Amino acid sequence: SEIIAKYEVMERVGSGAYADVYRGRRLSDGLIVALKEIHDYQSAVREMDALQLLQGSPNVVVLHECFWRDDEDAVLVLEFLRADLATVIADAAKANQPLPTPELKRWIIQILSGIHACHRLMVLHRDLKPSNLLISEHGLLKIADFGQARILTEPGIDASNNHEEYSRVFNDIDNKGTSDGDMEDKEEGKELDCFTSCVGTRWFRAPELLYGSRDYGLEVDLWSLGCIFAELLTLQPLFPGTSDIDQLSRIIGVLGNLDESAWVGCSKLPDYGIISFSKVENPAGLEACLPNRSPDEVALVKRLVCYDPAKRATAMELLHDKYFTEEPLPVPVSELPVPL
Ligand code: ADP
Repeated sequence: SEIIAKYEVMERVGSGAYADVYRGRRLSDGLIVALKEIHDYQSAVREMDALQLLQGSPNVVVLHECFWRDDEDAVLVLEFLRADLATVIADAAKANQPLPTPELKRWIIQILSGIHACHRLMVLHRDLKPSNLLISEHGLLKIADFGQARILTEPGIDASNNHEEYSRVFNDIDNKGTSDGDMEDKEEGKELDCFTSCVGTRWFRAPELLYGSRDYGLEVDLWSLGCIFAELLTLQPLFPGTSDIDQLSRIIGVLGNLDESAWVGCSKLPDYGIISFSKVENPAGLEACLPNRSPDEVALVKRLVCYDPAKRATAMELLHDKYFTEEPLPVPVSELPVPL
């Protein structure tokens, strides 16, 4: 096929639920790329649509081109990124060395810039976690794995128009990916008004999702971000739940009971009456989860890890947090140590 004619497939570097990722080499110039073969129509369409829309953002993985092999399988040709933030955290944890604050600040700024790029175009990632934040050899952090992403539409913003405009610049994409609206509509139809709440990786899943919300928004990514920042600060996952119920009970143990005083409207969540917890008298508070961290750092996490989605700070608001302009200043990207 066309892709075989253009790329040499090398070793497999990763695999997920619906995808296998290989290192590859572009025959014309030797460029090393990642070839992501996606075996699921819907996640292939989601990843292509989101990535096409987001091209040009420095903190989002570069999509060189994509191919359909048949009705189900697609191959995305992505820039090859050898490291990820999960490895940065694991290496520091193993060495029992906290990340130096100037480095930590630069990682966080890059994550926020990447999420801002997504949210500004109404792309909801839905599966943010350290292993989906890839890192180039130059220390550039790039948001990856848009297999669960959704493009939200809002009054006044027609995401489908945007999408058409952006896809036009991609000549390599076969008609399948962009204009086969029939199939997409059919598959998405049942989700048009309400999304599924079964998304993302449990540890990073927002409380509204755990309670079955189907009309959530960009804020679910902001909750995940808060969990990621906490993990960067302590080198431990913030809420490592072993089941969905355990996930909620850990959150409640820290933030306190979820009730109308914490978030007006929460009792209307689909599973609110189904999953109830006994009264937590003395919630631990986020401070207790972030020992030895500065009040500024605790405050930053609190702006994201809060029950009421409307109260979570946006990526843009956080980028303006004084934490990033105060000493110690973030290191330049070129000075970030990149794991091998
Ligand atoms: P899934 O959607 O199945 O989780 P991912 O996009 O997360 O797939 O990819 C699975 C694994 O493949 C990742 O954990 C990573 O190790 C590797 N991988 C993904 N994208 C790249 C890339 N651009 N460069 C190098 N390795 C990658």
